[in-house]
This record gives sequence, structure tokens and C-alpha cells, in this order.
Amino acid sequence: MTAPRYAAVVLPVPVSRPYIYEVPAALTDRVVPGARVVVPLRRRSVVAIVTGLDVAAPPAGVGIKPLAAAPDAEPALSPSLLELGRWISDYYGAPLGLALRAILPGPLWSIARPAGPAPAAERLFVLTGNGVDSLLERDRRFKRAPKRREVYEAVEALGGSAPVSHLVRQLKLSQSALDGLVQQGLARIERVPEMRDPFADLSSPPPPTLTAAQQAVVQGIAATPVDTPVLIHGVTGSGKTLVYLDVLRTVVAAGKGAILLVPEISLTPQTVARVRGVFGDQVAVLHSGLSDGERADAWRALRRGERMVAVGPRSAIFAPVQRLGAIVVDEEHEPSYKQGSAPRYHARDVALMRGQLENARVILGSATPSLETLSDQRIVTFALPERVGSRPLPPVEIVDLREAPRIAEAGAIPWSEPLDAAVLGALERGEQVILLLNRRGFATFVQCPACGNVPNCPNCAIALTVHQAPPAMRCHYCGHEETIPDTCAVCGAATQRLRGLGTQQLEHFLGMRYPRARIARMDLDTTTSKWAHHHILERVGRGEVDILLGTQMIAKGLDFPNVTVVGVVDADTGLHFPDFRAGERTFQLVAQVAGRAGRGRQGGRVFVQTRAPAHHAIRAAAAHSVSQFAAAELPLRSPPNPPYPPRTGLVRFVIATDDHARTADLGEKVAGWLRRASRERLDDQLTVLGPAPCPLMRLKGKWRWHVLVKSAEPRVLGRVVRAWRAKSHRAVTVDRDPVSLL
Ligand code: ADP
Ligand code: ZN
Repeated sequence: MTAPRYAAVVLPVPVSRPYIYEVPAALTDRVVPGARVVVPLRRRSVVAIVTGLDVAAPPAGVGIKPLAAAPDAEPALSPSLLELGRWISDYYGAPLGLALRAILPGPLWSIARPAGPAPAAERLFVLTGNGVDSLLERDRRFKRAPKRREVYEAVEALGGSAPVSHLVRQLKLSQSALDGLVQQGLARIERVPEMRDPFADLSSPPPPTLTAAQQAVVQGIAATPVDTPVLIHGVTGSGKTLVYLDVLRTVVAAGKGAILLVPEISLTPQTVARVRGVFGDQVAVLHSGLSDGERADAWRALRRGERMVAVGPRSAIFAPVQRLGAIVVDEEHEPSYKQGSAPRYHARDVALMRGQLENARVILGSATPSLETLSDQRIVTFALPERVGSRPLPPVEIVDLREAPRIAEAGAIPWSEPLDAAVLGALERGEQVILLLNRRGFATFVQCPACGNVPNCPNCAIALTVHQAPPAMRCHYCGHEETIPDTCAVCGAATQRLRGLGTQQLEHFLGMRYPRARIARMDLDTTTSKWAHHHILERVGRGEVDILLGTQMIAKGLDFPNVTVVGVVDADTGLHFPDFRAGERTFQLVAQVAGRAGRGRQGGRVFVQTRAPAHHAIRAAAAHSVSQFAAAELPLRSPPNPPYPPRTGLVRFVIATDDHARTADLGEKVAGWLRRASRERLDDQLTVLGPAPCPLMRLKGKWRWHVLVKSAEPRVLGRVVRAWRAKSHRAVTVDRDPVSLL
């Protein structure tokens, strides 16, 4: 009789310490590091990941249970993904259980689903003809059936057919509208056995030839050692996507796999079609709107090497791609690559680490690279300084709102004559206009003209935003709602004034000012249903919209050649946030939206309205110049000024509890612990700031304070977050390399 073997397993919970189980002889072959196992825990069975084998026998008397099952023939996590999990846990100071939970998708943590083949699925095909092809006819056919039209156009956008379950469950379209379309003879439903892939029909072929500039970058990358990360710094419209696809094509042709990360908002059917246009069914799209079944299918197809290219947002960096050859991070400066809950990883930095672990090439791309990337000595930069087809970047006019003449009927709305004239001109010529206002709602806030009181959210201590449809004051952080007051709650004054401008009010104004223009608004409030955002963009693409206005959602990636005028209605909305990146975010936003203009033959112009025309972020954005911005911004983050990233490493400890005094007290304790650690163990290599109330001191009912820790030595910060991980306190979250300090 041989001695029993023991395995260490990690559960998807905020615990770093592994649990020990006995390995039954029958499971020995399958119980290897990275394998999923089912373990008994209290009265339940849960999925865990094996992290170690033949660990020391537990002390006598501790009841050790055997593993219940090992469901997979191959371990779910490869050795390098397991290693990546450990790195995330150590670098970000997150429990290993949470790091592994981020790596393996949700459905794989459930024991409910068998691993069998996908069942036959109902698929809806829309039929053409029947008059729906012409817009006029379509308006008529769907006149009294807007829901059917919504279904019809959603399926059309997905390439003409889609699984019924996807339409009903993910897109929340109505089953009766689907049935109605079938009865109307505009669609049919078939049972199709298939891997559940809602993107299966999307494909658009790439432009046939690379430009000389694109070719030069492709060759430059090929000549760069694989272990040297590269940045493609290409201006808006320079054709970065085609470069990515060409590099990846070589990788896939060599029998290797690839990951393409894009910001969630850019994962449109058009993007998917471009990638599928090159790689076809080799592609697995990891969209956040997938059902659990679809997600599990995509994951398994990658794990088995049936699909070699993964496309998706942040979490796609963990795709189990086989023989990984390259990782592309498009729009690498995007804050959405940072996860907002533990483990608070940044997908760009995880990509760099994964590339190193798997010897895969890492390619970052952006028109407005982050200062972190620009200052990273390891990264080699390739520039695409010109647009495809030698189209010029549009000239940008800065409009000083303090003195620019305004049109009479604008009232309090900042609408200058130059912008007005440009919009009128574009509308007359049948061209399109994009207007950015990075603030949703109707007005920013209500203010009492008598006493100056502004109603705040009771949970979040920020001003409530006024919405018109439906009318209410709403908190943009927690969703709290109140009716718009007629009288002041503090002094009782009878008239209340709406202050500041939001997208709803701008839309209203534009409707009055340009009565014949077709206007579409895109912000969080108009895009709550899945794909709503794609439908709006499709209408713009088909020329059914003259003016597209919206928040930062409209700033990125859009490629509409008929857009000749871009207006930034108020460039200052984020400029004065108490965050050291306020200038960088403003620069990126304005430069990105400016890049939407002039992509066609008619050229284009950009108007940036601001009360801070001399601010370096505004000036550099107007010049489309990242180097101009960096030259002005980096000294502000370097000594003798207090250093900030990328000049120093930064970790933020946020304390949040229900009670203000307790929060402040805990803040003192955290800061005290950090100062002691620096003095006693870290040769005083930490700078500890605070505790101080967070700029958003009250959020979702909690009081928030924070402590900031800086060090030029990454290793020192690593030791601090790991020491804290061992202590771990539920009211304290640790955020290394935070993207927001609010
Ligand atoms: P970026 O991502 O750099 O802003 P895109 O990749 O969106 O730029 O390309 C801008 C436009 O130029 C797109 O419409 C794209 O189809 C087109 N384009 C890119 N490369 C080529 C090429 N080699 N030949 C013709 N058109 C191209
Ligand atoms: Zn709130």
C-alpha cells in the first residue's frame, strides 16, 4: 500500500492559502498543476484549480478529504497561465484565488455544465426582398412594428442570421417580435447544429495592399527580436488595424496563435468582420455579451487549438490560445484595460508579462499612447505619422469661450459662431457632423439662485444630474433618483435654476437650431440595450444621421469618410478633475475625437471650444501632437514637482466603510502601518501620502478615504502590497498603478 498523495488547490475566493486534499488513485493522471478539480467544501461541491502536488502531509488529526472529480482530460490552465496568475497575485497584491478566478471564465467554475458537444440550436435567418431592401419600403413595412424592425436590423447587422437564444437572451429582443417577422415572411427559423458562435457570419475582406508606410512598419516589426515589445504610434486614420492583421497573419501562417485586445466599446460587428475577413473561422470572439454556453464553447475551441485567434476586451488577455505567437493591444492608452475590482490588473501590463512567459511578440498600438508606454525603455516605437492615402490631419481651431461671439438663440449654451457656421455649411453640403460633450443628462445640476444650494446624492456626495426623459435628478455613480425640485430644500426659494450642459439638452438645442437635421445621440442613456450602440453607428454609416452627438463613446475608432466637421462643445469637462491624469485624459479625448474628421476626400475641420485655450493638453491636442503633450506634461510629474507615474510607481489604498469616523480612523492605521513598514523594513524607500478623504468622499453609501504610496523602486512596492495581502482587511482595497484617483 503506497502512501496517500496530497494536492494543494486554490478556490475562486479571496484567499491566497491553498486548501489540501487527498488525490484518489483513480484521478492521479488528471490531477496536475492547472487542472480543474471538484472538491467537497463544507456541504457543497466546488470547482478549484490544482496549484501544487505532493505537498507535505497535513498534521495528524486534521481531517483531509479526497478530491471528488477531475473533469478535464487536459488541464484547464497551462503552466504559463498558472504562472501568469501567480504574477498577477504577487504584482497587484491580490489573493491567488481571485487572480485565478479572473483567468478562467465564469462558466468553467461551475460544475453544472457538462463538457459535451454543443446541441443543435435554433437560428433566425432574415430574408431579403419583400420590399425591405429599400429604405422607404422598409419604413412602410415596419411602420406599426418597431420591435420587428429592431430584430430585423439587429440580425442584419450580425450578417443576416443569428441564434435565436442570442437574440432573445443577450440582445433582449422580444420572442413575439421574432415570431412576427417569421409570420410576415421576413425571416425563417431553422435548427442548426453548431458551435455557438454569434459572430460566425461576419466577414469583410481587408484592403488588398499595404501602403508603403504600413509595409515599412510590418518589416520593422519582423526585424525586431520577438522579446522586444513594440509600439505602433500611428495617427488617427493611419491604418494601424491592417498592420496588426498583417503581422498576425504571418504568425498564424506559421502555425501559432494570437490575441487581439480591443476596448470593449470598439468590439463592434465591423471590427469583428475585419478580423474574420482575414482569419475566418480561426477566430473566437470573446464578447462580454456572450451567453455562458457561448463563452465556454469559445474558450474550449481555443484550448483545444481548433481556433487560433482570440479577439476581445480586457479579459481576452487570458484566452487559452495554443502556441501563442503574438498579442496586440489596440488603443493601449484606454483606461478600460484596467479592471475595477480585485485583481485590479491592467491588461496591457499583463500582456507584456504573458508575452514574456510564452515568448510571444507584444504589439501595442495607439494614436495617443499613454505616458507609461512612451517612457518604457524596453519598448521600440514604430511611427505611422500620416493618414492612409496622404489625407491631411484636419486643422483644429481653438475657440475661446470667454470671448468668442455666440449666436443669439443659444442662451446659456456655449455655441459659438464659428462652430455654428461650420455645422450649417456641412449640413448644406450633405456632410456629417460629430459633436462631443462628455457629460450625459440634461443639465449638470440644479442650483438655487437665492442661496446657491446644489442638491447632492445622499449616498455619493456628488451633485445629482438633471435628466429630462424621463424627468428626474439622477446620481451617475449609484443610480439614486429624486424628482426635480420646484423649491429649494434649504432656503425655500421658489425658482430653481438648471446649470451646466448635458447631452440631452444639447440634443434639444440642436433640434431647434437645425430643424431639418437628423440627429442621433449616443451616451450611456441611449445605449443601455445591447448593440444599441452598434445600431446608432450603422445608421451613421448608412448616411441616415446628419449630426451624431455623444459622450466619450463617440471619440474612438469611428471611420466615417463623410464626417467633415467635429466639434468639441466643452473641452473643459474633465480638465479640472482632482486627478493627476486629468490633462492626459483631456488630451487623449480631444485628439481622438479630432481624428474622426476629414477621413474622406472632402477633408474636414475641428472646433474645440474651451475656457482654457492656453492649457497644454488643449494646445497639443489641437496640434495632434503627442510629443508636444509629453514634453509639457512629464516635467509636471517629475521633481522638483511631486512625482507621479510614469516618473514613480504608485499604489493607492482605499478605505471604505459605512461610518465616517471609522473610515478616517482606519485610514490613519493604514498610513501608520505603511510608514512603519517603510522605516523598519524598506530603508525609507516609500513616500506615504495621507490619509485623506478621496475626491469622491462618499460613494454608494460608503465613506471613502485613501492613502497614496509612491516609490521609484517597483520591488519595494511589490513587497508592500504582498505584505498587505497577508494582513488583508475587508474595508481596504489595494490598487497598484491606479488609473483613477477619484
Ligand atoms: P487607425 O486605426 O489607424 O485609425 P484604420 O485602421 O481604421 O486606422 O484605417 C483607416 C482607414 O483606412 C480605414 O477605412 C481602412 O480601411 C483604410 N485603409 C487602411 N489601410 C489601407 C490600405 N493599405 N489601402 C487602402 N485603405 C486602407
Ligand atoms: Zn449616488
